[in-house]
Amino acid sequence: MLKIGILAFQGAITEHQKMLEQLGVEVVLVKKPTDLYDLVGLIIPGGESTAIGRLLRSNQMIEPIKQFSKEGKYIFGTCAGLILCGKKTEQTQFDEVRLGIIDIEAERNGFGRQKDSFETQVWMEKIKTDIPAVFIRAPYIRSMGDSVTVLASFEGTVVAAESKTVLVTSFHPELTDNLQVMNYFIEKIQSN
Ligand code: GLN
Repeated sequence: MLKIGILAFQGAITEHQKMLEQLGVEVVLVKKPTDLYDLVGLIIPGGESTAIGRLLRSNQMIEPIKQFSKEGKYIFGTCAGLILCGKKTEQTQFDEVRLGIIDIEAERNGFGRQKDSFETQVWMEKIKTDIPAVFIRAPYIRSMGDSVTVLASFEGTVVAAESKTVLVTSFHPELTDNLQVMNYFIEKIQSN
């Protein structure tokens, strides 16, 4: 049975857990470095990237997650998770955490005030279908390197992308009952 962790400090934790369990995955709630042992993948959920970053730091989780990724394990970051997986930008405050495990720069709260939260459909090229997508004070991907492939755009901005082992979405697939994005992550792990 596939064993996937969910970083369990803050954010949409139980929603991810339910989704993974529906897809037959064993779930581990990750709060300390040793919880990563034995996992093939880790989900970094949405929430608030500054708060999650602080908790990563105070629980000594930054280096272990970077190492986990370096070892070729899979990571899926949604919303605040996307911001944390990316690199620092000129706007990043000195004390904010960025794991830098995928070559992207995220624009925090990129959709601005009038579109703080909304639900829409986005076309996912590799899944070949529209996916219901919930955006909550969501970031978009401002720039990316050659190792990164665009998976979905919305109104001209990139909202989902992947590298060999890291998948990121601006939106929250776990807040809908559509399992396709999570299933895509699982297939990505299994295709290895
Ligand atoms: N805007 C939040 C942040 O900067 C992310 C929001 C979310 O994860 N839904 O961390």
